Amino acid sequence: MEEKKFGDRSNKGNYIPKKRVSYPPVFVWPLAPVRALKWIFSIPGYFLPWNLFYVGIGLISWFALSPPLENYADLTIITCLSVFIKNSGLVLIFYGAFHYRLYIQRAQDIDFKYNPRWPSENSKQFLFGNQTKDNIFLTFCSGVLIWTCFEICILWFAANGHLRLINLDESMFYFIAMILLIHFWRDLHFYLIHRLIHFEPLYNLAHKTHHRNINPGPWSGLAMHPIEHIFYFSCALLYLFFPFHPAFVIVTLVHASLSPAPGHAGFERIKTDEQTSFDIDSFAHYLHHKYFECNYADGILPLDRWFGTLHDGSEESFNKMRDRLSKKNQKKISAKT
Ligand SMILES: [Zn+2]
Ligand SMILES: [Zn+2]
Repeated sequence: MEEKKFGDRSNKGNYIPKKRVSYPPVFVWPLAPVRALKWIFSIPGYFLPWNLFYVGIGLISWFALSPPLENYADLTIITCLSVFIKNSGLVLIFYGAFHYRLYIQRAQDIDFKYNPRWPSENSKQFLFGNQTKDNIFLTFCSGVLIWTCFEICILWFAANGHLRLINLDESMFYFIAMILLIHFWRDLHFYLIHRLIHFEPLYNLAHKTHHRNINPGPWSGLAMHPIEHIFYFSCALLYLFFPFHPAFVIVTLVHASLSPAPGHAGFERIKTDEQTSFDIDSFAHYLHHKYFECNYADGILPLDRWFGTLHDGSEESFNKMRDRLSKKNQKKISAKT
């Protein structure tokens, strides 16, 4: 079986990849400039496949699918609705594709699926008693709605001259550089807000909604409490502080909105046929959903390694996590007695 080449199953049937969670050779000491350059241009690397994919969708979203900037100056219901429908369509197609292939067609059954169980269809902790329906509800009724509000509000300020915009013809180099650096900003912002919402009062108020997905599927990606969505999409507020192009806002928000789908797919690899498959790099965040207190970052910056919260999927990491959890449980029991 293709799966056996890449990982093993535990006694409980959980799939554990042989590949360890690791980082690109960019933030290493001593510096390794040749390896770093190779990584930037290789596949998978900095640009391909995912970064340029999200940049491309973001640029299409602004230049081909969004109303012109002047329409945001005097907002009408048509402008607002067209932005909401555009964003909903992107989410529906992208998340729907993962869900359809892996969870409706079950095209590869549980091959490469970390948790052998399928999403819960009869659990009181989820709205409608169904994990997937609950996630889809939160995605559209809170996620896409708040994303759209951020997009419209920032562009309203820009269209009314309250923010400084760049001219594409005069600042092409700046435009390209900024668009290609959005990935770094998103990684850093996600880590910072993620650490913040794990602070107990905020966790109990908001982030625990997302963490109901101990066994995540693609629709878990944007399934968050509205308060968490406000923190999450605040990545677009960066552009209040320096001159920008509307496409920066759209690409940043598209990156934030679409990238959680593969990250929460629940599968390590997607099979294209019996012999071939490709990695979707979801193990680090799967471990975060399983153990809560590790892998807060999800990207190319080695923040968890720097701050001692990396779970790399090794036996040593699993043992460390088990020790930590049993100590925590003992503390809880002794506090109660
Ligand atoms: Zn998550
Ligand atoms: Zn979390």
